[in-house]
Amino acid sequence: MLKMIEVGINGYGTIGKRVADAVAAQEDMKIVGVTKTRPDFASKMAAERYGLYIAIPDYLDKFEKSGIEVSGRIEDLLERVDIIVDSSPAGIGAKNKALYKKYGVKAIFEGGEEHELTKCSFNAQSNYEEALNRDFVRVVSCNTTGLCRTLNAIDELAKIKEVKATIIRRATDPGDSKKGPINAIEPVLKIPSHHGPDLQTVLPHIKISTMAVKVPTTIMHLHCLMVEMRDNIGVDKVIDTLENTRRVILLDGRERIISTAQIMEYARDIGRKRGDLYEIAIWKDGISIKENTLYYYQAIHQESDVVPENIDAIRSMMGEEDAEESMNKTDRNLGIR
Ligand code: NAD
Repeated sequence: MLKMIEVGINGYGTIGKRVADAVAAQEDMKIVGVTKTRPDFASKMAAERYGLYIAIPDYLDKFEKSGIEVSGRIEDLLERVDIIVDSSPAGIGAKNKALYKKYGVKAIFEGGEEHELTKCSFNAQSNYEEALNRDFVRVVSCNTTGLCRTLNAIDELAKIKEVKATIIRRATDPGDSKKGPINAIEPVLKIPSHHGPDLQTVLPHIKISTMAVKVPTTIMHLHCLMVEMRDNIGVDKVIDTLENTRRVILLDGRERIISTAQIMEYARDIGRKRGDLYEIAIWKDGISIKENTLYYYQAIHQESDVVPENIDAIRSMMGEEDAEESMNKTDRNLGIR
């Protein structure tokens, strides 16, 4: 019988809980346990569903008083897994790396960490092979994942000369009531914003510059892209390519999908768990070409687009050589077309 890949999740928040459910849905992987820092409703559910380990030992007494069943500490979890997905808040992953090394456990970090931490930034469609058998890999952020998926496909079709993009960012996630802005628009004053250079950690040959603004919404990011192409191609070819690009969907403004609100409604209507949309959504009727420049808008469901990437990163790091085979399995198990 095929040995299951045994996976732990350190940091069971927005990304961690989704990756845990996605791992549990794969026939070749299983969740051994997840960590929480404090006892709360999510810890209670995690203990019942997966087995709960404590990330910060100082809080052990709080867990004991709460009556939530605990299976051990992070160190115990590390002794029981092949690979850990570190989905703790940005910057904490870097501090955890020494612990993973000590226990000889492979680790995936998320987009809040720097490229330098692993020197391998991952997007399944762009560079699956780069992560093969590695011990440490970083899955790029939600925005960078969206840029990689569509720009990689367009580059293969029409050889990109230069990209200019504006990233309109959601202020925070729906489950967070602490951050803002709640009534303001906040530009990133450092130009370029980090998104362009981050894309280049995966696709170094693409020339790109980005600006970014934060707006008071929680549901999605939106990208406005201008892509100068070397080859002169028609809109129909671009549409055809994007329609056939994995983890990308084309939606139509003429069907009254006029904003990110309807895109999220669409995701709920097709029955996705938590109303997630793993795919990058592009407005089909918003795609146009003027001279050699392609214009399009894409929306990113920040809570979930990186989830399938984490699953493929696990397979690559565990030695599965066939990228297509891994992505096929991931997509089938997550209900991606
Ligand atoms: P989150 O705050 O929702 O979840 C983080 C979890 O880690 C929380 O449950 C927190 O209690 C726990 N935690 C705190 N300190 C810890 C520690 N020392 N050890 C272990 N766990 C600890 O954060 P998130 O949004 O899920 O982000 C996780 C990572 O994923 C970050 O690198 C982030 O940049 C990246 N990311 C986030 C999004 C997004 O939109 N939310 C999208 C893509 C990537």
